[in-house]
Amino acid sequence: MSTKILYIEDNYYNIVLVKKILESNGFEFYEARNGLEGVEKAKEIKPDLILMDINLPELSGFEVTTKIKSIKYLKNVKIIAVTADVNSETREKAIAAGCDGYIPKPIDNNFVNKVKEFLAGKKEKLSSENYEIKVLKKYSEDLVNKLEKKVRELTKANSELESAYKSIQAVNKRLLLLNKMEENFVSISSHELRTPLVVIKGFIDLALDNSFGELNPKLRNALSMCQKNIDKLMHIVDDITDFAKLRDSNINVVVSEVDIFNFIEELIKEYVPIFESRNLNYQIEIECSSKKAYFDKNFLFQAMQNLITNAIKYTPDGGSITVGAKENSDEIIFFVKDTGIGIEEEYLEKIFNKFFVISDSSHYFSGEYEFLAGGKGLGLSIVKNIAKIHNGKAWAESKGRNKGSIFYISVNKNFKTNIEKKMTLSEDKKYILSIDFPECSEYLKSDMYEVVNVDYNRFVDNIDSFRIPQILFLDISDKNFDNVVIFLKSLKESEKFMSVPIVVIDKDSNIVNKSNLFSIGIEEYISRPIQSEVLHEIVKSFL
Ligand code: ADP
Repeated sequence: MSTKILYIEDNYYNIVLVKKILESNGFEFYEARNGLEGVEKAKEIKPDLILMDINLPELSGFEVTTKIKSIKYLKNVKIIAVTADVNSETREKAIAAGCDGYIPKPIDNNFVNKVKEFLAGKKEKLSSENYEIKVLKKYSEDLVNKLEKKVRELTKANSELESAYKSIQAVNKRLLLLNKMEENFVSISSHELRTPLVVIKGFIDLALDNSFGELNPKLRNALSMCQKNIDKLMHIVDDITDFAKLRDSNINVVVSEVDIFNFIEELIKEYVPIFESRNLNYQIEIECSSKKAYFDKNFLFQAMQNLITNAIKYTPDGGSITVGAKENSDEIIFFVKDTGIGIEEEYLEKIFNKFFVISDSSHYFSGEYEFLAGGKGLGLSIVKNIAKIHNGKAWAESKGRNKGSIFYISVNKNFKTNIEKKMTLSEDKKYILSIDFPECSEYLKSDMYEVVNVDYNRFVDNIDSFRIPQILFLDISDKNFDNVVIFLKSLKESEKFMSVPIVVIDKDSNIVNKSNLFSIGIEEYISRPIQSEVLHEIVKSFL
């Protein structure tokens, strides 16, 4: 077996030189470029001899030597210091640290002979025992100083890390809060906007039907424009509502067995008049081994409608649109292909982000289905969310500007089984936490709820030990109001409870309490006496 020599050295040229000399003399050569790597290599290969550069960065050669000699099965490995530093203190220090000898640099013709001498058993000693104590003392002092410096550096780095972590946490909390606010805003505003729009639209429709008397042509023209724009606005509000709905994790998904061909035919039928008026060719392409698939037909219909509407919007007259389905082992993939304006690669993913549109105002035309009529950037994020609830994906391909695009939405083939599993899971009881409101379990006595009653102090003292409930009730009767405010603020700012709906129960209705608490972000406020139906309605609305 050949003799293994490990050279721990940070200088590349020295390594090349020593490797050449040792290998040409039949030694098996290994290298490590720093102290820690050297220790690991030594453990791994168990060399017969280690050549140790003393001036290594980070851990010095002295320290690496002490470390290696402290490892039981490496205790007898010969370690020879190799350094250009020829002063006697360095030599003595190397031997005190555990080196068996010392070879000065530069590496010359005699190098191999010196290595062989050490392999044959040569061992250098310190010049005197007194001297040994002095050198060891100096060596330990140096080590302690180095250690102290490292501890200081680490403590500083640690406190910097801690403060960075704290600011990230604060930003994170803020982001979560903003996200929640945005979600609430989107769902409330879309709901609030739709109601007046329906009323306005109703009156305009009636007026155009001459329900309020014959209209003069100018007024009819103006009202027709209003009608068109109200329709557009309702479309946008519907998109926002759908978008908000799809983000809700409790969304109701209805799976059924759907005939793929009928589904696509039904879809296309709606668009035939537009295809014809825009002189667009259209075809259906289905390559699926099975005729049926399982998915939520309404949601997928909506997703495909968005894709076809886009294809129509972004394809010039005379172009062609293909709607179809194919499959791979896991998924049914629906697609809409057009010969339209195409998409540059950098936008292929971004267009699925909410409110993202490729802004090029020169492309904006008015009209819902005209070529290049711009939109609001929600259509594709709705498609993405619909894919997500089917455990699938949505993506686009295009070879670039004016080269057409293909949009895909996939549905996982096991979606039906997954959803069935999820439904059995969601039948698990809903967890409701009630603080100082023990009657809660009486009101909500049912198999659907698990109501846990706790007293205020126990909750405040052990807040982290409670699992996240679907609703939290808090009775504030006879509590110090300032403390209640502080407590609720801390809940609304805590990562764990910030999205839990909080229902406050009060002794009797107090307008000041109420408005202050709503401004903190509580979801509901009810005063005694409590009506069971009201409580049930509230619970239902949050679950
Ligand atoms: P919009 O309502 O603006 O169409 P979408 O979310 O549906 O919103 O689409 C986002 C953007 O993706 C569009 O503004 C458009 O730039 C691009 N896009 C979508 N579909 C196509 C398509 N078939 N061809 C070219 N670009 C498209």
